[in-house]
Amino acid sequence: MITKNKNFLIILSAPSGGGKSTILTEVLKTGSGIDYSVSYTTRPPRGQEQNGVHYHFVDEESFLRRQAEGDFLETAQVFGRWYGTSISFIQSRLAAGQHVIMDIDVQGAAQISATAIPYVKIFIVPPSMEVLRQRLIARATDSPDEIAKRLTIARKELQYIPAYDYLVVNDQLSDAVADVLAIVRAEENRVSRYREPIAGFLEKEKQA
Ligand code: 5GP
Repeated sequence: MITKNKNFLIILSAPSGGGKSTILTEVLKTGSGIDYSVSYTTRPPRGQEQNGVHYHFVDEESFLRRQAEGDFLETAQVFGRWYGTSISFIQSRLAAGQHVIMDIDVQGAAQISATAIPYVKIFIVPPSMEVLRQRLIARATDSPDEIAKRLTIARKELQYIPAYDYLVVNDQLSDAVADVLAIVRAEENRVSRYREPIAGFLEKEKQA
């Protein structure tokens, strides 16, 4: 029987305000065997964010202790705060046969590429820098200073696009969600995700 190593990490990166979390929410609603990796962060909660749902909000001491104990698959400092992905969560969900989708920055994505864990890396951009600026203003969670800082960082992050497998332009939300799901579907069928594709296919013939 031909079989696959079916599940992998779906790494989403985007400039802050790029609409990544909305896309994520919609993708998760489709219930396509995808779990969300809840990151650890030392930044305080924003708006309606809940501990354990959007992030595990921890203080710096606890974050650094976990980091020293090897609990994170990757960590990065973004806007002066720590962010990290829990190894044990990812391993348990992959072992349960789920894909794991994660919203991480370009530094974290580069660290995961260097591991043996299978992944697909998707970069999401708004149609233009101006749209990004408008979205950050509309979000009304950041001060003008903070928005200016996020736009400067966004310009730097765009330089990493060539290190990604796919680029999704988030103009119409429903199209962007459909694109992400189509990418996942296509990636499930990538030749390298099959275990012994030729031997597996010929197995029956040998037995006959
Ligand atoms: P925010 O504070 O706006 O939720 O996220 C700021 C940035 O941190 C975003 O680019 C987001 O993708 C990134 N981020 C969130 N969680 C993680 C994580 O676990 N690891 C890394 N490397 N980046 C993360």
